This record gives sequence, structure tokens and C-alpha cells, in this order.
Amino acid sequence: MTDSKPVFSGPPTPEEFQRRMAEFMQQHFAGARAFPGAAPAAAGAPEGGEDKTRAAAFEFGYKPREVKAYLDRFVIRQDEAKKVLSVALCDHYHHVRLALAGKESPNYAKQNIILIGPTGVGKTFLIRCAADLIGVPFAKADATKFSETGYVGGDVEDMVRDLLRLAGGDVTRAQYGIIYIDEIDKIAAASHASGRDVSGRGVQTNLLKLMEETEVPARSPSDIAGQIQAMMDFTQRGRPAPATINTKHILFIVSGAFGGLEQIIQRRLREATIGFAARERAEPSPEAVLEHSQTRDFIEFGFEPEFIGRLPVRVVCHALQVDDLFQILKSSEGSIIRQYEQDFAAYGIEVLFDDPGLRRIAERAAEEQTGARGLMTVCERVFRNIKFELPSTPVKRFVVTRELVDDPAGELRKILSDPAREERMVMRQLVDEFARRFHAAHGIRLRFTEAAADRLVREAAEQGQPVRDLCAQRFKDYQFGLKLIVQNSGPRDFVIDADAVAAPDKVLSDWVVASYRK
Ligand code: ADP
Repeated sequence: MTDSKPVFSGPPTPEEFQRRMAEFMQQHFAGARAFPGAAPAAAGAPEGGEDKTRAAAFEFGYKPREVKAYLDRFVIRQDEAKKVLSVALCDHYHHVRLALAGKESPNYAKQNIILIGPTGVGKTFLIRCAADLIGVPFAKADATKFSETGYVGGDVEDMVRDLLRLAGGDVTRAQYGIIYIDEIDKIAAASHASGRDVSGRGVQTNLLKLMEETEVPARSPSDIAGQIQAMMDFTQRGRPAPATINTKHILFIVSGAFGGLEQIIQRRLREATIGFAARERAEPSPEAVLEHSQTRDFIEFGFEPEFIGRLPVRVVCHALQVDDLFQILKSSEGSIIRQYEQDFAAYGIEVLFDDPGLRRIAERAAEEQTGARGLMTVCERVFRNIKFELPSTPVKRFVVTRELVDDPAGELRKILSDPAREERMVMRQLVDEFARRFHAAHGIRLRFTEAAADRLVREAAEQGQPVRDLCAQRFKDYQFGLKLIVQNSGPRDFVIDADAVAAPDKVLSDWVVASYRK
């Protein structure tokens, strides 16, 4: 019998059992102490599982504007959501800080949140970024995986144990983590839509207990390995390992698309306006309707009043348009193109994206109708073959253009047949980038002629210097000189030709002198 192919051959001897147990513990709980009397291999297991309940100091001094500013770096649009979230998170964590210091106010109502919005618009991303900033563990689950009893599906308490795992076993940290539950609309029990899970009400009751306050066993009663570990901790230390996690300060955020909620709200709004010249009013857009949601709408949708009552903060996230998707690619710090840059960089390949290329990716992604998730789908399709082929070729740079997004195979053939062409395109791109930044910084436009760009590119290659640096060096006095010319009511657009590249200072001083003559 080999280790990789266990064959059942009757009950093991006590020694065999101990050895197997030790191996099992070693595999699943690397930090666990050795099983008493176990084989020497396991006896050398690292010491761990010490008292992890010790409170790590929790600092929180953010103001809502600071939280929002941080979210702005990653999440495009969703401004209202970012604002409301920032306030709710600050309230919650200021309260947690006080509670940990023993100065909790007794009447505080927890700011649990409902996020309403279609898929892929940044709901999870918002919360994940916020959790990173605040430095709290963040566990995500799907409401559809829960069943009322916890036997068939997952148990809602597993999420709390997930937090403990993510907090590295630190019970205190787990106790102020964030639990995010997606597809919450699927556990609404109303009959207004078909195919609804009848056990939804039971799951709501279970979740309600967590949202209020309950003690969750640190190890699941149905997790045999966990139970054995708990028993062993007990026999070794003479006292139980961290037994429970209290959910009082865990922040709950639930989300879903809530299809059908809009009609419920709309009906209520219409009924309310009967007799008030309702007909003259313009119909609000579906997203604007959701902004008017009230507790009773959620109850009609199929939530228990107590359940929805525990979720006082309600935020709508909006669908993303082509322009938003373009901005996500171009300026979000979480942009997927950074991942591609890194992937290619691992092979020493530099990938550049020009604006028309990014826009084309955004247009294609919008067709997928899965929000920003479409960006991943499109990029995967565009780059799959290029990622396979390019690392084994001498090509070290390429530009993602509109043409490449539309026809990756055709463009790849072109890149491979004429690597020098690609090199020139990249360099040209870098010269244009210099001009763009110059314009952004000084409000003055530089137009490089083809010959000028070629010359810069050639010289940079000869000197083994990055094009960016060469441009910055050559034109270092241009911001001052050109500003003088502009002051003398000269032009704001300047054509840079090959002569200007060869003798930049002479050309600049000629221009300045001429501007005074005028
Ligand atoms: P959902 O709304 O379904 O929770 P996610 O937040 O999981 O969507 O979005 C999937 C991914 O798409 C995120 O990880 C992020 O990279 C990107 N993304 C989605 N929305 C935005 C946004 N508004 N700004 C920046 N990136 C976004």
C-alpha cells in the first residue's frame, strides 16, 4: 500500500491510527500540536494554535471624505453609493473602536447595508476596497448556497467561521469583520416571482440571528476534522480553544439585482400620486425609481419585516456605460490592463494600450451586458493567442490598438512578420504620450512631425535611453520658453520638426525672439 493510494484493509491498529491521525493533522492543520504519542515526523510540527484570541489594537480615524477619496481611486462612478457607504462605514468603525475600548453607547443601531444593482458594476469591489483600507477581514458568500437547515446547502454560520479564518484565527478581529452576501434577492419568499426557494424565509431567520447578536461556534458541528481538532486542543491545553465568535459588531452587507422591486416601488409611487396631477409628471428612469425604495417595498418583495429592518442603509449602484468601462480600464487602480502589463512583463514584453484600443475593448465589453466583468471576457479573448505565441518570439513591445482588439490573429501575424514596425509604433506612442503630458501640465500643445518622432526614436535607441527621458531632456526649457511666447499672445500649438529635435534650444530661442518682434 502506498501513501498516494490508500486501500481500505480493515480497521487500523492503534499505532497505525495514531500515525495516520498525525499525518492528517499535519496536512490540514499545519499549526497544530502533535498528536500525543505520535510518530516523530509529526512531533516536529511547528508550535502554533496558541491563544489567538488576544485583541489586536484596532485603530480607526478616518473621515467619510477620506474613505470616499480612497474608493475613488479604484471604483469608477457609483458616487452616491461611495458617499453613503463611506458614512456608514465610518459610523460603524468609530462605534467598534469605542466598543473595544469599553465605551460603547448602548443605543447604537448597526448600519448594515443593502446594495442594489446589476451584476459587475462594482458592488463587491467597493466593499473589498473599503475592507482593505480599514484593515478588517472580509468574507463573501452567495445567499443561494444556504439552505434552511444547513444540512443540504451551506450553513450561514460558516461565513462567520470564514471571517475567523481570514483573520488568521484572531477572534477579536473576526468579530468586527465584514460579511458580504450576494444574491440576497433570491431568498425573498414572496410569490410575485416564480421559482422562488421556499426555504428563503428560514434562511432569513437564520441570517437575522447573525445580524442581531449571536455566538457562533468557532468550529462547525458538522466539520468532523474541526471537532477532532477542538477535542485535541482541549486534551492538550486542558481548556477549550476559542469557542465562539460574537456577531454583534460584524458588519453585514447584502446585495442583489432585485428584479421586480422597481415595479413594486413604481406602483406605490403611482398610487401615492393619484389625485395630485399624476399624469403631468414624467416617468422616472428605472434606476431613479430604485432610489425611492422603502421598507414596505422590500417586505412586499418577500423579506420579513424584522430582516429588512436590520438593514437600514440602502444604496443603488448604477449600470455602467461604454464611457465608464473605458474609464475603468484607463484610470482605475484596479484596472485589468495592469494585470496584462504584469503578465507580459514576466516575459520581458512591454504592452501599451492606446485610447482607441481601450475604447474598443470597452465597447465590446458593453455588448456582453455583464458590467465590468465583460472587460475580463473581452480581454481574455483578445489576448489568449497573443499570450501563447508572443513569449516565444523576439518581440519585446507591442501596442494594443483598435485594430488589434478587432482582429487579434491578423494583428499578431503583422507583429510577427515585421517586429521593427511594432517597435516604431510603440516609440511613436511614447513621443505622443510626452506631448499629452506636456499639454496636461502646461496647457500647450506640441505636435511632433513624423520625422521628428523618428529622429527621437532613433536617437533614444542609439543612446540606449528611454524615449520618455530623452524627450524630457531635449525639451526641458520648452515649458518656460513657450509660456513666454504664449504671453506675447503667440500660438498655443507648436509643431516640433526634426530640426527642433536636433537643436531644440536654438529653435526655441528663434521662436521667442520672433514673438517679441511681433
Ligand atoms: P458586482 O457588482 O457583481 O459585485 P464586482 O464588484 O465583483 O461586481 O465587479 C467585478 C470586477 O469588475 C471588479 O473586481 C472590478 O475589477 C471591476 N469593476 C466593476 N465595477 C467597477 C467600477 N465601478 N469601477 C472599477 N472597477 C469595477
